[in-house]
Amino acid sequence: MRLVNFANDGDRALGVLDGDEVVDLSASGLPGDTVELISQWDRAKVEHAVADSPRLQAHAVRLLAPLRPRKNVLAVGRNYRDHAREFSASGFDASEKQMVPDFPVVFTKAPTSVIGPDEPIVLANDPTGSTDYEGEMAVVIGKAARNVSRDDALGHVFGWTIVNDVTARDLQKRHVQWFVGKSPDTFCPMGPAITTIDELPDIGSSWLRTRVNGELRQEAPISDLIFDVPTLIATLSEVMTLEPGDVIATGTGEGVGIGFDPPVYLGSGDVVEISIDGIGTLSNPVV
Ligand code: MG
Repeated sequence: MRLVNFANDGDRALGVLDGDEVVDLSASGLPGDTVELISQWDRAKVEHAVADSPRLQAHAVRLLAPLRPRKNVLAVGRNYRDHAREFSASGFDASEKQMVPDFPVVFTKAPTSVIGPDEPIVLANDPTGSTDYEGEMAVVIGKAARNVSRDDALGHVFGWTIVNDVTARDLQKRHVQWFVGKSPDTFCPMGPAITTIDELPDIGSSWLRTRVNGELRQEAPISDLIFDVPTLIATLSEVMTLEPGDVIATGTGEGVGIGFDPPVYLGSGDVVEISIDGIGTLSNPVV
């Protein structure tokens, strides 16, 4: 199942993407908020609701981010070897101790940075003019996780989505801690859907591809992650409670703008498209 949120007369409505149609669940009696629905998933009669609800043509629907995070989006830095190498070579990482880390490098992005498909990434929110893209697969937590082993970790996953971990590189460097450079408004495009884990059990076999203005910039299998999804969940849940609806962006592959010499940052009029097999394509213009 591919869960979406869409704009419905100024409101946010819950839906399911099914081919070229969106099933409109807004009158189904299910919770209208994705995080709430995920929390109640096991007892929610979602299959019945989908069968009984009206359908809209997908092209006539404006999709929103598939959920509104209740807290910061968790994110992992330098989690693909080739990207770790290009990032290290750029000399830009103010906190780098070694190229490939021994433990996951975890930071967060403010929830106010989240936008949906086709919403613009606003360059004016980066006063340093060094805005870069990072195509990433993101995990959506389904069941609360605390002290979960690697073997049990996938049982706590609700599904997968796409995040563009848009980054103001000079802010990332200037403030040492990455949070400021990662959190400008509009710097966390998310979507288009959350694909449930039962529909896409082997995320490792999916490929991540990022295009800027149609030019292929990033291409890597999710299986290239240095710290895989079970490791990330085990590591985080060893110290904190992961809750339903929490989002973990798992890191980006080689081919970001900072990897070019000189760096190639986003400019007004660019379009960034991130595709992951089984999830879809997240496209955002840059203004
Ligand atoms: Mg990233």
